[in-house]
Amino acid sequence: MVTKITVLGSGYAGVAAVQSLEDELEEDTDIVWVSETNHHLVLHEVHRCIRDPAVREKVVIPVDDLKSAETEFVQGTVTGLDVDDRTVHVDGEESIDYDYCVVCLGSQTAFYGIDGLAEHALTLKNLGDALTIHQQVEAAAEDASDDDPAQVVVGGAGLTGIQTAGEVAAFRDERDVPVEIRLIEMEDEIFPGHDHEFQGAIRNKLERMDIDTTTGATVSEVDDETIRFEDEDLLRYDVFVWAGGVRGDDALADVDIDTEHDRAYANSTFKTSDDRVLAIGDAALVEQDAEGGPLSEQDAWEAVVNPDTDDVPPPTAEAAMEEGEHVGENVARMIDDREPVHWSYINKGTLVSVGDEAVAHDILGIPLNTFSGPGARVLKKSISARWIGESSSWLAAAKAWPDM
Ligand SMILES: Cc1cc2nc3c(=O)[nH]c(=O)nc-3n(C[C@H](O)[C@H](O)[C@H](O)COP(=O)(O)OP(=O)(O)OC[C@H]3O[C@@H](n4cnc5c(N)ncnc54)[C@H](O)[C@@H]3O)c2cc1C
Repeated sequence: MVTKITVLGSGYAGVAAVQSLEDELEEDTDIVWVSETNHHLVLHEVHRCIRDPAVREKVVIPVDDLKSAETEFVQGTVTGLDVDDRTVHVDGEESIDYDYCVVCLGSQTAFYGIDGLAEHALTLKNLGDALTIHQQVEAAAEDASDDDPAQVVVGGAGLTGIQTAGEVAAFRDERDVPVEIRLIEMEDEIFPGHDHEFQGAIRNKLERMDIDTTTGATVSEVDDETIRFEDEDLLRYDVFVWAGGVRGDDALADVDIDTEHDRAYANSTFKTSDDRVLAIGDAALVEQDAEGGPLSEQDAWEAVVNPDTDDVPPPTAEAAMEEGEHVGENVARMIDDREPVHWSYINKGTLVSVGDEAVAHDILGIPLNTFSGPGARVLKKSISARWIGESSSWLAAAKAWPDM
């Protein structure tokens, strides 16, 4: 009997899952891959398209370059899952059945019910979003003057917000246009929760790119030209990009598995509360189970160096890729009635770009807490190039290199 595995989403988790399943599964299995786009988007570099829309060619990889000929691809929007019938509902298509389903639907922007925010703010979760931000910043700059510069506000000083502000600043500097950029953050620090030296180095880069940063500023209401804060301060904007947090995909809202804000709880083998549904990447909250099994010597050493395996992995490309690389083996084991292996997240370090600059922190194997300069820039580029090279082709990676 043929076992059917359905993979949902073509982000990092989805691509890595399909490829690890293709490597691990025997011949009596079918893989069906469903996603709303027929390409993979290198999302963690999509902010480069704000500065230069031509970069789109470098960050889009057709699914045919990523999967084997035997894997069937269905383009469509997943609207839900029926875990009793083991079917996936796809908008405008017949339902797709499965024996095992791997959910890799990523995340959506969280608006926290703030009045007017979803209606008026731009977001950055796909290629179209990046191109819209480019167009709106360009249009605002055309209408502006040195006396009355365009006001671009970015809400949320996490990875997405910082890198977005950096690209708007690079656009302003390359075009020499009158644009003022403000990065606003609710917490009292930028890149909240991270190391202070790292935060300081990022702040330094932002200041040097003339990006004004305001912390402790909680947005309470937004209309078509003004942001209101909890302390009643008002800020006028021409372009407002909201990058204040993520939640799970709408498709998981009514699925009968345990979720939090539409992200699926999964144990450290990626299994959700339903035995036939696995979840990875931003779509999942993957429990880090210290009891999950013996760590290898290398992993044990890494866990000592970076002792952050006791929480869920952060919503990052790195975690999504790794989970995808491991999920194939677990599905193969589940099919054969063998115990799945436990996975734990090892932080290999963090890299943030601010325009052409980058800041690196806690990079595994490098005995420096935080550093920037050419070393950090090359490291950031090489992570993106390695992903493109290993998942599709080294030629595509080489072409993308200058724009990463
Ligand atoms: C601007 C920006 C910069 C970032 N920078 C970094 C960084 O420097 N380092 C880092 O590690 N991380 C970074 N991130 C975070 C990183 O991109 C995410 O954590 C990562 O993309 C998660 O991978 P994923 O596969 O879970 O989800 P995604 O990459 O979001 O993929 C989800 C997939 O599911 C598809 N999909 C979604 N909903 C549906 C549906 N209903 N039906 C069908 N298909 C659907 C999407 O089209 C997509 O193919 C950044 C994110 C952004 C937006």
